[in-house]
Amino acid sequence: MAKEEHKYIFVLGGVMSGVGKGVVTSSIGLLLQQKGYPVNLVKIDPYLNVDAGTMNPTEHGEVFVLRSGLETDQDMGNYERFLGRDLANEDYMTSGMVYQSVITRERALEYGGKCVETIPHVRDEILRRIEAAAAYNGSRVSVIEIGGTIGDFQNALFIEAARVLKMKHPEDVLYVMVSYLPTPGTLGEMKTKPTQTAVRDLNSYGVQPDFIIARSKEPIDEKRKEKLAIWCNMRKDHIIAAPDISSIYEAPLNFEKDKLDDAMLDALHLPEKKKASLTAWRKFAFATANVKAPKISIAIVGKYFDTGDFVLSDAYLSVIEAIKFSAAKLGHFAQITWVNSKNLEKGGAKATAILEGYDGIIVPGGFGESGIEGKIQAIRFAREKKIPYFGLCYGMQLMVIEYARHVLGLSDANTTEIKKSTTHPVVDVMLEQKKHLADNKYGGTMRLGVYPAYLKKGTLARAAYKKELIEERHRHRYEINPAYVKQIESAGLIFSGTSPDGVLMEIAELPRTTHPFMLGTQFHPELQARPLTPHPLFTEFLRAAILRKKRK
Ligand code: GLN
Repeated sequence: MAKEEHKYIFVLGGVMSGVGKGVVTSSIGLLLQQKGYPVNLVKIDPYLNVDAGTMNPTEHGEVFVLRSGLETDQDMGNYERFLGRDLANEDYMTSGMVYQSVITRERALEYGGKCVETIPHVRDEILRRIEAAAAYNGSRVSVIEIGGTIGDFQNALFIEAARVLKMKHPEDVLYVMVSYLPTPGTLGEMKTKPTQTAVRDLNSYGVQPDFIIARSKEPIDEKRKEKLAIWCNMRKDHIIAAPDISSIYEAPLNFEKDKLDDAMLDALHLPEKKKASLTAWRKFAFATANVKAPKISIAIVGKYFDTGDFVLSDAYLSVIEAIKFSAAKLGHFAQITWVNSKNLEKGGAKATAILEGYDGIIVPGGFGESGIEGKIQAIRFAREKKIPYFGLCYGMQLMVIEYARHVLGLSDANTTEIKKSTTHPVVDVMLEQKKHLADNKYGGTMRLGVYPAYLKKGTLARAAYKKELIEERHRHRYEINPAYVKQIESAGLIFSGTSPDGVLMEIAELPRTTHPFMLGTQFHPELQARPLTPHPLFTEFLRAAILRKKRK
């Protein structure tokens, strides 16, 4: 009987954060999907922000926008990339969302005069959301990552919900603890004690892990597996080695080698439906990690470099991955260099000239004033020196501003995001956005998620996509001012993609006769680039970069 029940796998972090819970969650999802089971992945973020849209990327990493428009954590991007499909609003929750629904219900008298409490009401709202995600996806297995580390105040309620779920369905719930085993330099020996302590911490919540993913520099050896098995009351074969790897895409391959997928199906009482076939994935993982492939150098000119808690590259995670996928497809290895646009501003023409050495230049998305003039300098340089250029969102808006300033001669051209009083607001706030800004309604109010666009015949964009109608994900408040479109087009820039009503400019490009690849998108193509289906615009941009390298 129990075999027909839905299965839940909770992924929890022990010892410390940043050791790859998201990659473990994604890998388990991919492996079980390959075994023939429909899977959905859920990310739980314990903070009180209702979504990730209001957080600074230098502190929290990239904001990943779902097809629906929900602004989520960057882990959701990895989930989509590993599963190779879109995820839904149901697959993401924050404490903010959970409390917001409980409080809204309380205000509507839906608790019938009861005292509303974290247990049971908030806990049950968490469980309701987990079940709703499974139902929405029609999945057989849900893999749910609880953000943070065991012992945090913030995520305790989610662990409590996970515990209660197992009480209700003893045969259908697994707990996976992703832990870290340090090898202190002074000792030169891998230590299991922090993991033992983390398991004991988890035990104090009433939860016993079924699997430990042992993250470490070198693979954990048999002796230490035995030790952990005894001290943590575990099966030895449920302690899985996860040594450092050069690319996250190798993780599912390693787990498959260690038969983690078989062991999990076994523990969930699920029969093997088919052998996992990772042939295409393996080919891709080797290609992306192949440092011996011919190199292309790409400069990303951005401003999110004053890192807070997070690694710099997190702020532009999907952009980096999109480059990797297309480079692998073209049999190349992309070397990415971070160029701080604020330094270009300070260093002027001399600093900008270093860009000559790159095969391609990207200006990614961004907000606000800082570093903008440096980005415009970089764009002008790319245009004049005919270096392949790809602008993403802000990178497209600034490309149009640069063109208006230096080709049309509108020297004051700007975006009203930066200069409200500009005489030439070439980029202006969208009509429906004006009210949100006036009312200080910032959360979840941008133009978000998927919108369609039509592509003009005979353009770079149309040639890349090989179709007329596309759908791409957005996240912006400003747009190319329709009042300037004619003037800009008559000066040679083509708006090759527009919204179906022709009002919003979605892609700007220079004709191939003028420049090998100068193109910007109002949307974020990087959000839909996937390992086995790289994004056509990234691929065409890199193709142009490879050509430039060959000609050098
Ligand atoms: N700041 C710009 C806007 O709001 C661009 C946004 C972005 O790059 N995501 O329109």
